[in-house]
Amino acid sequence: MGDGNGNSDSLSFTPLGSGQEVGRSCHLLEYKGKRVMLDCGVHPGLHGVDALPFVDFVEIENIDLLLITHFHLDHCGALPWLLQKTAFRGKCFMTHATKAIYRMLLGDYVRISKYGGADRHQLYTEDDLEKSMAKIETIDFKEQKEVNGIKFWPYVAGHVLGACQFMIEIAGVRVLYTGDFSCLEDRHLCAAEIPPITPQVLITESTYGTQTHEDRSVREKRFTQMVHDIVTRGGRCLIPAFAIGPAQELMLILDEYWESHQELHDIPVYYASSLAKKCMSVYQTFVNGMNARIQKQIAVKNPFIFKHVSTLRGMDQFEDAGPCVVLATPGMLQSGFSRELFENWCSDTKNGCIIAGYCVEGTLAKHILSEPEEIVSLSGERLPMKMQVGYVSFSAHTDYHQTSNFVKALKPPHLVLVHGELHEMSRLKSSIERQFQDDNIPIEVHNPRNTERLELQFRGEKTAKVVGSLAKRMPENNELISGVLVKNNFSYSIMDPRDLGGYTSLRISSLNQKLSLHYSGSVRLLMFNLGQLNDDAQLVHHAKLKDSKRGNPTHVIHVFSGKVIVNFYGNDSVAVVQWQSNPVNDMYADSAVAAIMHAESNPVPDKYLPTSSSFPKFDTAIEGMIKHICGDDVSVVATERGLIAQFEEDGRRLLVEGNSDGPLMMGGDDPMDDPTTSHLLQNLTEKMRQIVTTNTEDGENDPLEMEY
Ligand SMILES: [Zn+2]
Ligand SMILES: [Zn+2]
Repeated sequence: MGDGNGNSDSLSFTPLGSGQEVGRSCHLLEYKGKRVMLDCGVHPGLHGVDALPFVDFVEIENIDLLLITHFHLDHCGALPWLLQKTAFRGKCFMTHATKAIYRMLLGDYVRISKYGGADRHQLYTEDDLEKSMAKIETIDFKEQKEVNGIKFWPYVAGHVLGACQFMIEIAGVRVLYTGDFSCLEDRHLCAAEIPPITPQVLITESTYGTQTHEDRSVREKRFTQMVHDIVTRGGRCLIPAFAIGPAQELMLILDEYWESHQELHDIPVYYASSLAKKCMSVYQTFVNGMNARIQKQIAVKNPFIFKHVSTLRGMDQFEDAGPCVVLATPGMLQSGFSRELFENWCSDTKNGCIIAGYCVEGTLAKHILSEPEEIVSLSGERLPMKMQVGYVSFSAHTDYHQTSNFVKALKPPHLVLVHGELHEMSRLKSSIERQFQDDNIPIEVHNPRNTERLELQFRGEKTAKVVGSLAKRMPENNELISGVLVKNNFSYSIMDPRDLGGYTSLRISSLNQKLSLHYSGSVRLLMFNLGQLNDDAQLVHHAKLKDSKRGNPTHVIHVFSGKVIVNFYGNDSVAVVQWQSNPVNDMYADSAVAAIMHAESNPVPDKYLPTSSSFPKFDTAIEGMIKHICGDDVSVVATERGLIAQFEEDGRRLLVEGNSDGPLMMGGDDPMDDPTTSHLLQNLTEKMRQIVTTNTEDGENDPLEMEY
């Protein structure tokens, strides 16, 4: 899946869960060959593998990074499975508070789903969860990290303790994923931050679509009134709640309400969760993540030590004797405490159940909101449904008002809606489109369904920064700049090679190569074979064997304009080929080595090799050649301008070798009168000189002779 080469300008976004649904949040973001997974949750209304996001649509092993926004099961419930049971090998990040609560909540989830019946085979065990902890790295709010060129940093999201939004930047394109968020401060949490920079793509939840939340004071009043009515008529009041989040908010409200209502003091309020104690310690640890109100209170007394709420760790501690209020987990009556109490109490009209948060499709909490006549217990029994059901939303998700203000503050060109039932999502999409059109703000709103790949085009402009000595002077019009192009992830810079050390961690180095070969033949044979390569083998040094010190070469031969040097150690029958390594020189060196090996394996006696005496003297050769071409009435004369061919018949003179810019000759036409012939003769002369001088040696001693 995706563009493997990373050169495409197309950014793709694929929901693998929570696309046109709520539950199992999981998305894949791909751009420039980088892959980021956002959240990895389970669907609270489904079990076993059915609850997983559609990760089989992607190549898990190619994901670079996984970012978890908060501890809710629909955002991290599949994480131990992904980290321990799949080929995932990327990095995984979450905030400190999220990590602490993740361990605690998922441990509870594993225990609860163990008792859920035979058909629910578990996705992972307590052991998997424990092992997954080592693979999770933590990040602070606003701390910027980088993995494989992907930059990312979190902002406060409100919603629950530790929840964050992630800004992700790949090759200059920014994507903001809000996760679940709330722009409203409540009794203990901060409101979501509005990032100071605009992302090109905003991915946001649409849980409440176009609904508007009740005013906080109105909903608190409605809630306490409902609780008050149920207990004063002799009923039991059940409030299913998630262990952490709204539960603490509701306890803060109830504790305050009980304090001001003397008449309720003999009616007990319980918080029934196996995690009750642990939750409190987490809340005490992470108070710095909460709002100013709590920070102020904690200075005097811990607001989470309640006067009127007592905790129940298990059902055995609970004595069901008359009116009471029980906040019990889990929040959607799937199983556990809340489910047990619900089944015990649902047939009595005096009792009441207050749903205080968002309920996912497929859960019992969602089902009872549709006022059914009866419900089916976990053991399969049909129970008449008589108790009162109330609904007050305390879940810290944005409503329409908050979402549209948030989007308007950021003005992203693209808005992607996730985490919402289809009809809520569609309504939100058209409302935002309408509102932004009225306000003349361009925006494209997308709501892809699960596994539907959304492609967005971004024209990635490629620019390179000129740095170091190259940047000292502004280039003139159309002046080309040349230097080394250095690519570091998605940024390019051009610099002089000498500046590499100062601007990068790169260093310049040159590699000198040496290769020793056994060579027992004559120097003449060696020269002959090397001379065949490029016509330029040159003996630059020779020493008499008896004079040469051991360890010094007896003969030094340059080939390929000196790029390859052959040191011959006549005393040891060793030829050492030496060159500065680069692709071209390596090739030259290879052919020199081949020539030496050829000389070694094909010994031709020196007498059969062409010698200097078998070649004519240069001047004679030139004259012969020119006579051959131009006729016998030509003579070759050396002048201060060079060699001249002089025609006896018409006095024409042509330059055959030398400097055409030299002084004009006395008493004759300019040799360039016939430039074509002159040019031809010059070429031939040059070739001739090469042949003759390579094969003749002057000097008294023939350096090619070996003396033994
Ligand atoms: Zn959430
Ligand atoms: Zn959620």
